[in-house]
Amino acid sequence: MLLSVSRSVFLCRSVGIPQFICHARFLTNRSRSKSARPALKPTKKEPKVPVGRKSALDALREIEIAQKPTPKQLFDYFLVLDFEATCDDGSIVDEKVEVQEIIEFPVVKINSNTWKTEALFYHYVRPQVHPTLSAFCTKLTGILQPMVENQPDIKEVLKKFDTWMLKEGLLDDGVKFAFVTYGDWDLGKLLPRNCAYFNIPVPAYFKEWINIKRPVSDVTGIYPRSFFHALQVMNVEHIGRHHSGLDDVKNTANLLRAVAEKDYVFQITQWTAVN
Ligand SMILES: [Mg+2]
Repeated sequence: MLLSVSRSVFLCRSVGIPQFICHARFLTNRSRSKSARPALKPTKKEPKVPVGRKSALDALREIEIAQKPTPKQLFDYFLVLDFEATCDDGSIVDEKVEVQEIIEFPVVKINSNTWKTEALFYHYVRPQVHPTLSAFCTKLTGILQPMVENQPDIKEVLKKFDTWMLKEGLLDDGVKFAFVTYGDWDLGKLLPRNCAYFNIPVPAYFKEWINIKRPVSDVTGIYPRSFFHALQVMNVEHIGRHHSGLDDVKNTANLLRAVAEKDYVFQITQWTAVN
């Protein structure tokens, strides 16, 4: 597996494709199993792009599940987010992490009327406390050392994200959006702890979010025990590699769509105090 990722990164570099797009393409094409839910076919009007030259956004759109009509939502946009962070297995003293640092920062913007993915923010983040990824971390996330080296640090990526939010019109007057995550760890623990450690203010828009477990529980009567359990009870195919931030975002976005099809209107499920 790791050799395959390395090979894909090498191949992309050799033809000049940005690394994250390459990674996204590689992961998108993996692990497609038989599913009860069909992926949307690309529209006929879209120009044909040579394989390997598609944008990461195009790759994301290919795996959107088909969408039935849904009720009007309270939010114009859903921002599905899933961080990956430095980690170790706890068995090697030298590899214990003092603070878990965000190393992969993917967010997709989904229109609540069309349920289409309209934009993608994607960045690897250079860890500063433990600049060298543990073998365990690479095995878990598929993130190789070269992917995080020479990348911006968390402070810079948060600035880039804020610029993206502005560019996408998400901070315009009257525009309503909600972050969507699987669980409360990303925005309830990881980001606030990173910001506190590096003395960075937590942007106010990260203070509330929708934990997708709650809506899944509301429409099925079953509180998910795990990510795969949530997908199973919603009859959504898992795509790609679990603990790849980008693939986790794709799957969480499809969970969101599947819940919406049950005539569900999403509300914020969790808040946190932000200084
Ligand atoms: Mg993840």
